[in-house]
Amino acid sequence: MSRVYNFSAGPACLPEEVLREAAEEMLDYRGCGMSVMEMSHRSSVFQNIIDEAEADIRKLMAIPDNYKVLFLQGGASQQFAAVPMNLMKNGVADYIVTGQWAKKAAKEAEKYGTVHVLASSEDKTFSYIPDCSDLDVDDNADYVYICENNTIYGTKFHTLPNTKGKELVADVSSCFLSEPVDVSKYGVIYGGVQKNVGPAGVVIAIIREDLIRDDLPKDVPTMLKWKTQADAGSLYNTPPCYGIYICGKVFKWIERQGGLAGMKEKNEKKAALLYDYLDESRLFHNPVEKGSRSMMNVTFVTGDEALDKEFVKEAAAAGFVNLKGHRSVGGMRASIYNAMPYEGVEKLVAFMKEFEAKH
Ligand SMILES: *Cc1c(COP(=O)(O)O)cnc(C)c1O
Repeated sequence: MSRVYNFSAGPACLPEEVLREAAEEMLDYRGCGMSVMEMSHRSSVFQNIIDEAEADIRKLMAIPDNYKVLFLQGGASQQFAAVPMNLMKNGVADYIVTGQWAKKAAKEAEKYGTVHVLASSEDKTFSYIPDCSDLDVDDNADYVYICENNTIYGTKFHTLPNTKGKELVADVSSCFLSEPVDVSKYGVIYGGVQKNVGPAGVVIAIIREDLIRDDLPKDVPTMLKWKTQADAGSLYNTPPCYGIYICGKVFKWIERQGGLAGMKEKNEKKAALLYDYLDESRLFHNPVEKGSRSMMNVTFVTGDEALDKEFVKEAAAAGFVNLKGHRSVGGMRASIYNAMPYEGVEKLVAFMKEFEAKH
């Protein structure tokens, strides 16, 4: 067996410890005689798995008691519709557009009401986070929406926007559980887990209870009402059982890394190693404004498309895979999520130095 260093933006690498534990429990989960994939979601064994997962993420993120934690399906993209469906009362929402994911979310919300784009960084190919300290927030806005870490461009909000009292909704898909977070600053935090938390198929939504309403328009599908899932403890229908089980294992793994504070320290070290090299390199260059850099997704280019291609190819042959940038921006991207070991980044930088010396 030989494992590669997988820099994929998502689905992405998972902690090896978690994969080994799952492998050990594959045929017989703790004496049940079956795998978690094969058991009823109504069984007490599975109920324990989901209860423990919820308790563990609550502890990790210090989620206040007046927030619900939902384990959903449909990807982050389905929440692009669920957010306006559940939150629009006045039919107005404000979006900050810092990349394709925020743009898609805004476009989806337009189906349900009036959308204002409060700020955008599209003028410079989303290479920075705009100043959001004094935005023209609409008096009627039901919420202000951000994509907190922009997976494709490698940018991150380091200061949350001043929403002037409106609810903040954040898509945290690619920075979930990467550092401590003050949940009370948000109305809704949600993310697909396949970037930093678990296998594809699960979306975790953390929603303040008073935003979980029953008085929605009649045509809102039952499955898209947060109330349906909240009342049923995420078990209204069959949930993504195996994915939730793996997320639970990842929560425990993060706890062993020192919780979110420990995770942040490790992530900062990895990111600094790569950015410091990019800043001194004469071949590679990070196109993001310094104050907006993401700790999770690090983008870089040589300025020569053919050379970028050559780099991605040679890197893959050396065991550093999925370094190709998103198809919409080109270049390279190293996603260095929680599960990427320091050693992986160290070896990547050594490989990049060798490549630089040759070209
Ligand atoms: C990957 C990603 C999405 C889309 O996730 P799906 O689960 O595929 O719908 C949305 N937002 C962000 C920030 C992402 O990185």
